[in-house]
Amino acid sequence: MNTRTYKVGIIGATGMVGQRLVCLLKNHPWFEIAALAASQRSAGKKYGEIVSGERWSMEIKIPDGVKDMVVMDATKDAEKISGMADFVFCAVDLDKDKVRALEELYAKLECPVISNNSACRHMDDVPMLIPEINAEHAAVIKAQRERLGTKRGFITVKSNCSLQSYVPALHPLMKFGIKDVLACTYQAISGAGKNFETWPEMLDNVIPYIGGEEEKSEREPMKIWGGIKDGKIVDATSPRITSQCLRVPVSDGHMAAVFVEFENKPALSEIKKLWAEFKGEPQILKLPSAPKQFLHYFEEDDRPQTKLDRMLENGMAVSIGRLRKDVRYDIKFICLSHNTIRGAAGGSVLTAELLCAKGYMD
Ligand code: NAP
Repeated sequence: MNTRTYKVGIIGATGMVGQRLVCLLKNHPWFEIAALAASQRSAGKKYGEIVSGERWSMEIKIPDGVKDMVVMDATKDAEKISGMADFVFCAVDLDKDKVRALEELYAKLECPVISNNSACRHMDDVPMLIPEINAEHAAVIKAQRERLGTKRGFITVKSNCSLQSYVPALHPLMKFGIKDVLACTYQAISGAGKNFETWPEMLDNVIPYIGGEEEKSEREPMKIWGGIKDGKIVDATSPRITSQCLRVPVSDGHMAAVFVEFENKPALSEIKKLWAEFKGEPQILKLPSAPKQFLHYFEEDDRPQTKLDRMLENGMAVSIGRLRKDVRYDIKFICLSHNTIRGAAGGSVLTAELLCAKGYMD
């Protein structure tokens, strides 16, 4: 197990995911924040001054250790930041070409990038890791380093937050041959980088469209469940997933209503047993941010509830409930995960821990 401390940078530190990363890394046993960066707009100012007031969206106060840190320019100061940090987390609101250029800039400076952005998600030598599900995909980093011409630098990405509740719930059931999945998601406003102060129009409102989200919800699981051939990821071709993604007036926590059809139909009791027994590498390796129990099943008819259950296991667990038979599909259930913790910042911290434990950051 890891015994050293890693210095880390946060690119996009002023944003919603960046703020979450700052909070999660506050007392982290392995990682220490060495650099904060954002756009030119923020560069040169103190972190505490930029994010104070309605911009600060976390439940805890701005941690003392970062308040007075001067935010750097993610692009202009890249070389300096790469010298200060063993690796960086990246969560920026930029168009895809610019994100890819920024992430490759750091990777080529031999500074690994743990990304929350979607720009590199479909490259076959960039792993898209949910550490409990596809930790073995880290093996493609070797091919990526060859392409980038780096010894140490690489990019790894997080999947979209919308699928973070239902892909883990479906994963232990894959052995029954999942044919079709219908997933409707009810997504929090922090997923758009907003809170109710910055997006008051969302009070008492539902918006039936989140740009690009349905495509991501349907396509990204295929990469997560893909195999490795000749050192690169080959997407899975099943199950078939269809989704509808709605924005709902909730601060944090994405919920999903899921319907599933199988080749071989399991009993409901068998499904609950598989969820209860499911463990991935983070649990086996006892990584610092790993939930002890990744998948929690609630027997109560009115659970999981967003407000009650999103912080389960520090926001890193997935809550499931209302498993029952369906008249059109075989089964249906509800699931919930915290979008900025498990679905973004917490998921990327866990990914970094996994990659440190496996020697990719040495
Ligand atoms: P956000 O709150 O809008 O924050 C955007 C961040 O990007 C800010 O720190 C901003 O810095 C920075 N930025 C903008 N232009 C930049 C530039 N040219 N160079 C460097 N930094 C720049 O967005 P967010 O919700 O945190 O999302 C960030 C990324 O994570 C997006 O790709 C998003 O899709 C992804 N993501 C978000 C969630 C979620 O639940 N929120 C979940 C999964 C993935 P300034 O303050 O200086 O403008």
